[in-house]
Amino acid sequence: MLSDIETGTHSLLLNLTCPECGTIHNAAVINTVCVNEACKSTLFAKYDLSGGLDKAILSTRPATMWRYKELLPVIDERNIVTLGEGFTPIIPIENLKQFIGDNAVFWKDESGNPTGSFKARGLSAAVSKAKELGIDTIATPTAGNAGGALAAYAARADIKAIVYMPIQTPQVFKDECRLYCAELIEIDGNISDCGRLVNEQALLNNWFQVSTLKEPYRLEGKKTMGYEIAEQFNWQLPDVILYPTGGGTGLIGMWKAFDEMEQLGWIGSKRPRMVAVQSESCNGIVSAFNSGQQISEFTDGGFTIANGLRVPKPYADKQILKVLRDSNGAALTINDAEMNAAVKEIARNEGMLIAPEGAALWQAFKKLKSSKWIQSGETVLMINTGSGYKYLENLLID
Ligand SMILES: *Cc1c(COP(=O)(O)O)cnc(C)c1O
Ligand SMILES: [Zn+2]
Repeated sequence: MLSDIETGTHSLLLNLTCPECGTIHNAAVINTVCVNEACKSTLFAKYDLSGGLDKAILSTRPATMWRYKELLPVIDERNIVTLGEGFTPIIPIENLKQFIGDNAVFWKDESGNPTGSFKARGLSAAVSKAKELGIDTIATPTAGNAGGALAAYAARADIKAIVYMPIQTPQVFKDECRLYCAELIEIDGNISDCGRLVNEQALLNNWFQVSTLKEPYRLEGKKTMGYEIAEQFNWQLPDVILYPTGGGTGLIGMWKAFDEMEQLGWIGSKRPRMVAVQSESCNGIVSAFNSGQQISEFTDGGFTIANGLRVPKPYADKQILKVLRDSNGAALTINDAEMNAAVKEIARNEGMLIAPEGAALWQAFKKLKSSKWIQSGETVLMINTGSGYKYLENLLID
């Protein structure tokens, strides 16, 4: 076994399996989506969990997402590209008690990650695995945060990064890419337009693409949120998790982590109800969920202050909808004015400057609580996916 080398991570990675058609792919070589032309699904990394793993080892590990290295895809420690991502704090709502009643309500605050968002988790995993596989150029379409994270981890790994970003994205997202020395290409369009162009150029120039859920390992990085939530809540998952859904990586990733942990014997069969929150301008998952569809329609109502939520057609829409239904979850939209107001409300009362994407969750919480979908006494976790400091240009402050 490869992981027997002295600098091995003891990763339990077995292969990449297609969740749609079951085709097994060799994880020792470069992969993108399912090779079955009729399928082309996102691939899921599969691990050998049959021998279990003693979770007591975790207490000896660093406070980063790599503390779960056996459940991550990198085989040789020397290929791990890390800037201290993950193991972010759980912070209770302290002052806005009039809204939470007898619920216990928490943030998982991802804003302290390198480059200021949870995209660091996905790109740390993807860039590490790309390094292990000998890749020298990585390209991605991005609504902002993924580009900055790719640029930083690629700089660290001495890999070339090429980033396609909508021209309407706030300046800070462009500047950070240039500072980390990525090649930045601004596109007069949305992230789907960026995706199409990256795809064309990647094929011509032999670049590796890490477009959301068309590359298997960003999902593995983001799933570590699920492991952390279990560990930080003492292996009792919250009743409800709210997630601001763009491409859906974090939602699908957490759900995958819960399954893996149950197989490892770390948690039982109880699962949180998963809630997808979208921007009113890009509400394809909400519409599909509420009308009983298996896939979503392309939907783009234009600019939103939550750049990360402007994803007109998530590649893994089927998987997102499946998680929502399997968990007895919900899906709802929040508009820009509501997000802006929530950023201010949380800043003023809780001392946290959260991203508009995270702020959408606070409004969603209030709606679900007043409709009694969230019940008395339930424990609720909201994932603040990024730092509000990167969005000041998008916000009305007065
Ligand atoms: C990318 C992003 C999201 C959406 O994440 P997905 O994995 O694409 O669903 C939410 N919030 C922020 C701040 C983001 O950068
Ligand atoms: Zn397939």
